[in-house]
Parts: sequence; C-alpha cells; structure tokens
Amino acid sequence: MQTVPDTDGAENGNDFRAAELATNLEGVLARIDAACAAAGRDPAEVRLLPVTKYFPASDIAALYRLGRRDFGENRPQEADVKAAELGALGVRWHLVGQLQRNKVRQVVRWAHAVHSVDSERLATALATATGAALDSGERGTALEVLIQVSLDDDPARGGVTPDAVPALADHIAESAELRLAGIMAIPPRAADPDAEFARLAEVCTRLRTGHPGATELSAGMSNDLERAIAHGSTCVRVGTALMGGRPITSA
Ligand SMILES: *Cc1c(COP(=O)(O)O)cnc(C)c1O
Repeated sequence: MQTVPDTDGAENGNDFRAAELATNLEGVLARIDAACAAAGRDPAEVRLLPVTKYFPASDIAALYRLGRRDFGENRPQEADVKAAELGALGVRWHLVGQLQRNKVRQVVRWAHAVHSVDSERLATALATATGAALDSGERGTALEVLIQVSLDDDPARGGVTPDAVPALADHIAESAELRLAGIMAIPPRAADPDAEFARLAEVCTRLRTGHPGATELSAGMSNDLERAIAHGSTCVRVGTALMGGRPITSA
C-alpha cells in the first residue's frame, strides 16, 4: 500500500482525504475477505467495484494510486466529465445506473461495461454505438454488458423480471459488439436480502446454462455485501463504505 506523504499548505486536504480513502479501502477489502472466508469462497472471485458518483475525480485518482483500476458511476453525464479528466490513467469505467438511449453514443466512448441493460432496444442501441466507436477508433474492444434484473415491481428502479432474462440474453449474444458478462441487481430496500440474493443466484445459474461466459453476478453494496457474497456475488458495488456519505442519495 502506498504511503501518503506529509506536505504543507493546500496539499494537506488532499493528503487527509487520500489517507481516509486508504483506511476505508482496507476496511472494505477486509469485509470482502471475511465474507469470502465465511462462504468458503476464494477472494479472487469477488471484485470490489468502487462506486464514485458525486465524488470528485481526485478521489478516483487517489484510489487509482492505491491500486484500483475499475470504477463505477451511475450518471452518464457526470461520468463523461470524469472520464475526460482522467483519460490518461486507463481506468475501466462501469456504468451502473440507468441509461437512456440518447446517452448511448457518449457512454460507449469511455465505458468498459454497462451493468444496467434492461431492454432489447437499449442493447441494440449500445451495439450500434459500440460498432461506430470501434470503427472510428474511439474504443478498441467490445462493450461488456450485464442484464439488470428487477427483484421488485418498481419500474422506476430499472431492470427486467427474471423471466425476461433468457430472451434478452439471447438478443445481446447475437451482437458481436457486445459481450454478455452476466447480471446485476439492486435488491428492493425493504426485502429480506437473503431471499432476494438467493433468487438472483438462481437467475444467474440458469443464465450460465445457455451462456457459459456470462459468469458475472454484480450484487451487494455497502450494507449487504456480506449477504451478496454468501450467495455468489462476483462484483460488489461499494459507494458509502468506501467514499463516505454522499451529499444527495440516489436511487
Ligand atoms: C450508488 C450505487 C451503489 C453503491 O451504493 P452504496 O450503498 O453507497 O454502497 C451501488 N450500485 C448502484 C447501482 C449505485 O447507484
């Protein structure tokens, strides 16, 4: 782990923040390790995806210096700005929030993965835009996509029902510009997380039958990452526990 130098003046604020992020990161990684040990899983199977929405690019740079390479953002416009600011670092950006089709062309310029694909129309738009970005040299690889699964009936939070996953997966798999990586879910706030994560694990198992490469299960956040890891999560998306409280909470 990198040490934080002691400097004077304006740098002190940044150093303080970098030290705070380093401490938080250690704590979150320890939670992941403990959850993996409890579940009898190899910690190498579970990736930490820091979700940095509402936090400045300087925080992402600090976490990058601590060895993180993947970062999650949930608002395309905010992520556009940060991706431009940090372009030289080679961060792998994951869009974890809802995406409207009119933002797709911008997003495929910087996104490594989109976790929130929940319709054939959106998948088609992403494939077309990714194809154009590949042709123009704006990106060099296929776009990884995860199907967002809805575990409640709240359409405002996005996602498709478990029953709709196979057809959407087949649709995505037909696009050479997209790589179907797996599924993502945000469990309903009031629900019993164990029951919801168990349902999600079933959806994931069924998906892998037809699409063996779709191994990613993006589930678990600050409050429930242990439960998600117990149920097979391969990617925990952590905001608050790593970054601190956000000025405004988002869906
Ligand atoms: C903000 C956000 C997270 C992180 O949530 P925390 O509870 O702050 O850890 C995870 N996933 C998505 C889609 C988010 O928007």
